[in-house]
Amino acid sequence: MIAHHRKQAVFLDRDGTIIEDVGYADNLDQIVIYPWAVDALGKLKDAGFRLILVSNQAGVAKGLIDPAFPEEAFRYLREKLIWQGAPLLDGGYHCPHHPDGTIESYRLACNCRKPDPGMILQAARDFDISLSDSYMVGDHLSDVEAGHRVGAKAVLLLTGHGTRLSATAATSPAIRQPDFIAKDLLEAACWILAREQKSEA
Ligand SMILES: [Mg+2]
Ligand SMILES: [Zn+2]
Repeated sequence: MIAHHRKQAVFLDRDGTIIEDVGYADNLDQIVIYPWAVDALGKLKDAGFRLILVSNQAGVAKGLIDPAFPEEAFRYLREKLIWQGAPLLDGGYHCPHHPDGTIESYRLACNCRKPDPGMILQAARDFDISLSDSYMVGDHLSDVEAGHRVGAKAVLLLTGHGTRLSATAATSPAIRQPDFIAKDLLEAACWILAREQKSEA
């Protein structure tokens, strides 16, 4: 009998992780992929990871972004990555909420805005992911915490806001301590693959 293996995933923040962080992107021209992201995503996909984007989009609640834009941007990013030679992103989840939003229908303390793990938990159900065998990668300590809240390993990047935040990581609560600090998504991918090889040995 073949054992049922649940799948592994790398959960990926968007801004400052896969694409440049331009603030509240509301236009497809602002989706600028980091040049190393293509290689990084390819390595992770080749190693068997599902690639799942999880992005806070509070600009929707703040009235700065059209509610349809995050999904449109995801479809565009997914296609653009493929044109550049990257693999398919398996899924994309967005949190449009913020407790102080100006748009009433999105003004709430939800359970999906990172560091809350709602998007990751939903993706784990949708894709049958084993979270303790998975990773969260992002440029904010809230990305790190979201990963740790579900028992995943978490990598903090020094791209995007990460340069500013890595100094703060040293004095942050344990749940916000990254398992690794990487200079960019490619270094994060290499660390993940090396760690996986070690645990297989
Ligand atoms: Mg980010
Ligand atoms: Zn939310």
